[in-house]
Amino acid sequence: MKNFFISDIDNITPGKEVHVKGWAQDIRLMKNIAFIIVRDSTGLVQATVKRDCPDFHKLETLSRESVVEITGTVPEKVQSNIGREILVTSVELINMAEVPLPIGITDNVETDMDTRFNSRFLDLRKPEIGRIFQAKSAILWGIRNFLMSQGFTEVQTPKTVSAATEGGAELFHVKYFEKNIFLNQSPQLYKEMLVASGVERVFEVGPAFRAEEHNTPRHLNEFTSIDIEMGFADHHDAMHMLENAIAKGISNFLENVRDASSFSVVKEKPVTPFPRVSYLECIKILKGEGYPAVHGEDLNNEALKIIGKKFDGFYFITDWPTSVRPFYTALLDNNPEYTKSYDLQFREIEITSGAQRVHNPAELKRRIEDKGLDSDDFEFYLRTFKYGMPPHAGWGLGLERLVQVILGLPNIREASLFPRDRNRVFP
Ligand code: ATP
Repeated sequence: MKNFFISDIDNITPGKEVHVKGWAQDIRLMKNIAFIIVRDSTGLVQATVKRDCPDFHKLETLSRESVVEITGTVPEKVQSNIGREILVTSVELINMAEVPLPIGITDNVETDMDTRFNSRFLDLRKPEIGRIFQAKSAILWGIRNFLMSQGFTEVQTPKTVSAATEGGAELFHVKYFEKNIFLNQSPQLYKEMLVASGVERVFEVGPAFRAEEHNTPRHLNEFTSIDIEMGFADHHDAMHMLENAIAKGISNFLENVRDASSFSVVKEKPVTPFPRVSYLECIKILKGEGYPAVHGEDLNNEALKIIGKKFDGFYFITDWPTSVRPFYTALLDNNPEYTKSYDLQFREIEITSGAQRVHNPAELKRRIEDKGLDSDDFEFYLRTFKYGMPPHAGWGLGLERLVQVILGLPNIREASLFPRDRNRVFP
């Protein structure tokens, strides 16, 4: 097993021998000297090979991106602008890379997305691409640690289901032996059932599938959803949990990923609480700007762009109309035309939807039917409300959307290792 990494060279006393294993990113061969830039997951080092090195001849056939093991010593004075150098005593070729490479790793040529994603394993070797996933991991762990600190239990729920969470056309149909079933759009019903099971604070990080036909820079057909549900809580409690989870995700990223703020739009831990603006206030803002907003309808991209200009960063839009929210959303106590719901936005982009949920079984059954769904299909879910269901609230946060806005990525596909969209189910 490799247990010495390129960044460990920074702590080595000059003159000491080191063994470096990695990829030969670049090879410059001259008459009496050669330079190999070796890369591993922690950084780069220049390997300086003099002609008197017995392995000098191997460099004539060494191809870029081959896997090598280099042995050498750390010089007293580093003469490479990379900031790390070893003076090579031996070069071992572990595995040769074929020539030519399907896409360049360091070349300054713009490669289109399709070509990049067809060879994603190579694309990910580019440091500027690899670090997106270091960021994603750090953001997720910040959120996860925060939720654990708040007494949440992480769970896994089925992705093959016989009832659609929200109905609608956004479902992938799957043949499951003799039956036709769906890929789950969201763990919503399961996390509520777990609250009924006595897991008062529950969260899941898992795939969610949406058969949305449109190809947009903000939609994937398979994305990672971070979902929470809390018993004995309302929408205000859930919003509070969300803003703190986001702040912790961002601070974990900024504190633990090298040069984080140099490639991120969000450069500081955001101040909490985030601003809150109600749906009705949004309609007023839009009308004030001369935009023909229709009261009771969802806010489209254009409307959200106008609202987003009023807030620099994260903010909540609260109290959405009942007509545009799912059946399980609780209604405002004093006005059933509106719900105890919210979206978290970053400028014009929605990152999270959440709400307090209905906990009364008769009301829930009625709301399912009001949406034109068959309540018999939801019997497994409705049952859990009949034997002691506390009031509860939660949210669903799209991890790739969150990474997209934090890093300012133009397309959500950049935040997915192997994106799935209308045309791509490969590799
Ligand atoms: P949108 O209006 O942006 O299509 P939605 O209202 O369908 O989203 P929800 O069903 O409320 O989204 O899902 C909660 C969160 O999951 C969203 O705020 C978003 O972060 C994420 N999400 C939803 N659909 C997608 C998708 N197709 N691709 C990536 N993330 C998504």
